[in-house]
Amino acid sequence: MLNTLRKIVQEVNAAKDLKTALGIIVQRVRAAMGTQVCSVYLLDPESQRFVLMATEGLNKRAIGKVSMAPNEGLVGLVGTREEPLNLEHASEHPRYRYFAETGEERYASFLGAPIIHHRRVMGVLVVQQKERRQFDEGEEAFLVTMSAQLAGVIAHAEATGSIRGLGRQGKGIQEAKFVGVPGSPGAAVGTAVVVLPPADLDVVPDKQVDDVDAELKLFSDALESVRDDMRSLSQKMAAQLRPEERALFDVYLMMLEDAALGNEVVKVIRTGQWAQGALRQVVKEHVNRFELMDDAYLRERASDVRDLGRRLLAYLQKAHKQALVYPDNCILVSEELSPSMLGEVPEGKLVGLVSVQGSGNSHVAIFARAMGIPTVMGVVDLPYSKVDGIQLIVDGYHGEVYTNPSEIMRKQYAEVVEEERQLARGLDALRALPCETPDGHRMPLWVNTGLLADVRRAQERGAEGVGLYRTEVPFMGKERFPSEKEQLAIYREQLEAFHPLPVTMRSLDIGGDKALSYFPIKEENPFLGWRGIRVTLDHPEIFLVQARAMLKASEGLNNLRILLPMISGIQELEEALHLIHRAWGEVRDEGTDVPLPPIGVMIEVPAAVYQIHELARQVDFLSVGSNDLTQYLLAVDRNNPRVADLYDFLHPAVLQALCKIVEGGHAEGKPVTICGEMAGDPACALLLMAMGFDGLSMNATNLPKVKWLLRQVSMEKAKELLAQAMSIDNPQVIRSTLQLALRKLGLERIINPASDIQG
Ligand code: PEP
Ligand code: MG
Repeated sequence: MLNTLRKIVQEVNAAKDLKTALGIIVQRVRAAMGTQVCSVYLLDPESQRFVLMATEGLNKRAIGKVSMAPNEGLVGLVGTREEPLNLEHASEHPRYRYFAETGEERYASFLGAPIIHHRRVMGVLVVQQKERRQFDEGEEAFLVTMSAQLAGVIAHAEATGSIRGLGRQGKGIQEAKFVGVPGSPGAAVGTAVVVLPPADLDVVPDKQVDDVDAELKLFSDALESVRDDMRSLSQKMAAQLRPEERALFDVYLMMLEDAALGNEVVKVIRTGQWAQGALRQVVKEHVNRFELMDDAYLRERASDVRDLGRRLLAYLQKAHKQALVYPDNCILVSEELSPSMLGEVPEGKLVGLVSVQGSGNSHVAIFARAMGIPTVMGVVDLPYSKVDGIQLIVDGYHGEVYTNPSEIMRKQYAEVVEEERQLARGLDALRALPCETPDGHRMPLWVNTGLLADVRRAQERGAEGVGLYRTEVPFMGKERFPSEKEQLAIYREQLEAFHPLPVTMRSLDIGGDKALSYFPIKEENPFLGWRGIRVTLDHPEIFLVQARAMLKASEGLNNLRILLPMISGIQELEEALHLIHRAWGEVRDEGTDVPLPPIGVMIEVPAAVYQIHELARQVDFLSVGSNDLTQYLLAVDRNNPRVADLYDFLHPAVLQALCKIVEGGHAEGKPVTICGEMAGDPACALLLMAMGFDGLSMNATNLPKVKWLLRQVSMEKAKELLAQAMSIDNPQVIRSTLQLALRKLGLERIINPASDIQG
């Protein structure tokens, strides 16, 4: 059964559209269960009726015509009860309804399972039998499993339906809205450019081209290059492989022959498809065919074809990248955006970002906010492979993307973009003013840095120091660990740029969703794995080189502070402190005269909250990493769009933890700041100030907004709001309460200029 399930789901996943997918479902399920009828009814959101969408066994002419309200018939009953229904004598059931159009009077037995996706009933999967038949428990379980697995596929196919199959490259089709999660606030109107991860065939989009000959040439060049690679690999490995093992290379070469795979790709290119899309199509067909084979040896051949496809794609991508011209007002769209992709667009052209994977707390979203680029994350239903070259609107406030927006929509958003521009200009005037509430409370505003551009932006916006310098960012752009000298130069630049203001440098925090290409960490559960201080304590050589570079870089400047990430216990802290002292001793022995800088610990693991006194006693300051603290307290992966709506730093548990941290730190006489994204959310900043935080560190983009708001609201009012928020047990209600309070004060529009647009 498991094998049958796997095969059906695989086939359905590979279907090109919803209709085909449903057709496969009814055919295969009917055969697998040995029944006479299998049908899918989907709930039409507009009419709120279950409509027959596919059937094998009933009259096909009834498809799209027969429908029932939730309070009608057995299908309606399954849908409303959200439970399977298994009836040997269906017609005797009081809810039985007869539809002449389907010719179903001949069917005596009925088994139906609801199709539910993310708590929403999408439809009902039904099998029927002419003779009386009591479907057994195993069959019922099979149908329930099937429909649970298919729910996601159907939901995805349905959501992408609005753009599917229409027009060339999706051009000239009507407006459609896709919902994700806000990544970085702001609005953008521009042209989509789909970027692909290197050599990943699965995500290559379709694209129609006019110059077929050019694509044929690209493909034949790629073929030739891979052939050369194969020949030289075969020769190189001749001594190490047995003849039968070397035969694999001959198989590869044979597959590349013009008459085989190569020829099929050429045929598809001739239809006007670009070479990469044609390659994906052909390889996918072959792989699917191999994977469905029962023979294990033949199934394995799928990986050979995939490998060949990847090699060819790498050459095609290389040639494409060299020729790519980015349009003005470019909106980068990717299956999974990575920080390195952001740097590829020439300066001044990038206006928006869209990622199918990830959520608002992924690091790429954090960088987008730092760069002030409107971003939507986790748009899981966006058929991104079809949007290259079309017009898009990115609404980073609501987390929405519009494809082919209408003229009216474009105008509306162009106005928001203009209003943002004017607001930003207005906020520039705040640069030299202190962040002080009307009743005289001073709140230092610091900035988070990492990218080169952050330095200039931070200075333009009047930051009073750096609360978090993410040192992993310069590490990401390299091809190996930077040497001590290289690090020294990078850190010196940062320290000098802000001198005499303090710069808080965090020790290398890799793992989770921050990978170094030259130090890959592959884990099932990376956010609970080898991350942050755990990696650097296991590699003291990396930690020591970094600490030495930081200390040397601070010579004569003395504005360095060192921050330790992901500390979950006293022992880790002591080991890290020991290494810093060792590095300090070494650099002084080498003749660099620097004082020991203030050392702080990040509070971002729940265990650290409960040890706040013990930790605070050993360090000079505490800095809360609310991004991770929220993910670990709520057990919600910050990178997973499926649970993005559960990730909320206004959750009462997070607010209580924050109060506990401030109290604990202050009781030990240590300052407590916060450098998670929450600090840059203006409404949250009010609460944090009221809690007693000694400083807020945020991205440079949000700093003026936070300053503006704090200068409008008294500490007394902020404390009132905090008391109100702490008495509410629901994060959404807390957020609405804050928004309402700001609206009453007439302060909401600066935070969200798109608040009038209801998508
Ligand atoms: C945090 O976790 O809040 C934090 C500031 O660190 P990062 O986002 O880099 O994990
Ligand atoms: Mg963190």
